[in-house]
Amino acid sequence: MPIKFLDLQKINLQHQVEIEHKLLEVFRSGWYLLGKEVKTFETNLSEYIGTQHAIGVSNGLDALRLILRAYIEIGIMKKGDEIIVPANTYIASILAISDNGLVPVLVEPSIEDYNIDISKIEEKITSKTKGIMIVHLYGRVVFSDELKEISERYNLKIIEDNAQAIGASFSGTKTGALGDAAGFSFYPGKNLGALGDAGAVTTSDSNLAETIRAIANYGSKEKYVNIYQGLNSRLDEIQAAVLGVKLKYIDKENNRRREIAEKYIKSIKNEKITLPSIPLDMKEHVWHVFVIRTKQRKELQEYLEKNNVQTLIHYPIPPHKQKAYPELQDFSLPITETIHREVLSLPISPVMTDNEVDEIIEYLNKF
Ligand SMILES: *Cc1c(COP(=O)(O)O)cnc(C)c1O
Repeated sequence: MPIKFLDLQKINLQHQVEIEHKLLEVFRSGWYLLGKEVKTFETNLSEYIGTQHAIGVSNGLDALRLILRAYIEIGIMKKGDEIIVPANTYIASILAISDNGLVPVLVEPSIEDYNIDISKIEEKITSKTKGIMIVHLYGRVVFSDELKEISERYNLKIIEDNAQAIGASFSGTKTGALGDAAGFSFYPGKNLGALGDAGAVTTSDSNLAETIRAIANYGSKEKYVNIYQGLNSRLDEIQAAVLGVKLKYIDKENNRRREIAEKYIKSIKNEKITLPSIPLDMKEHVWHVFVIRTKQRKELQEYLEKNNVQTLIHYPIPPHKQKAYPELQDFSLPITETIHREVLSLPISPVMTDNEVDEIIEYLNKF
């Protein structure tokens, strides 16, 4: 049997009875937007993360766009201001910044954990810097007291791109509650996945929450009264109902991911392969993807494919080398480029069996 990178069907079938029941309930209710399912999910999500507010939106990119847009409407940021962001990230983090007329300032990652190198942030701060967007990439937490201290000293907002890390934590605080506001994606392949597009924002800033809620609903707080030039970015009742079921199992599912990651780290032994650095506390990360590095990536991927193991690359082209951003082409970001040349993501998911994990380890040790 081939080992899929991610078996979404199997993941969702774990909760078949409950999900089908909720789908039918919403279908029969005749109420499909801004109803009780969204309200309940928002309450449960904010309680789970530990913030005052959660706002359901259409997708993860919108969650991030809306946070920055709301800061502009409130007067905390303005077009032309700079936002610090890791160079090694999925393009959505950067799109959310440039889409708002803000300027992304790219910072190199650490080669140890592939996340933004916090020691390189301060040198990028100018009088125009208004925020730092951190990305818990691959489900690995990035935060430190130093980061918090920098943000306070320069009066910068910390925005978390938490698309890949729901359930992760730093010293007991969940990602999504570490900074001033956070964007979540519930894209089907994320650790908490909907049956289509969905996203959310969490924050404990009531003014920001209220502004985001209004902008996401045509810029209105009261029907047909428009105070912002808003957009339509709402979470559907159907998706909220499905997410409400799956949220109950997220810790259990993340724990299974941790077990697999631990096994990979303990058992893969091959000089050609660099494993993720061993985290201080395994329990804090949620292993959205398990990323290894090798100078023989193409050969390794083909070899695994031949043995029926599907792998993916997160990501093949760094944002600053994308055609979409000609203004970023000239940046020299050697660590980011090395990562993009060498990384390969192994299958990891809550529904993988021990046998599948053992099989993959055996192939890797023989490569
Ligand atoms: C998935 C993802 C997003 C965007 O989420 P969508 O729901 O696909 O819009 C943003 N940032 C990161 C790091 C992601 O992985």
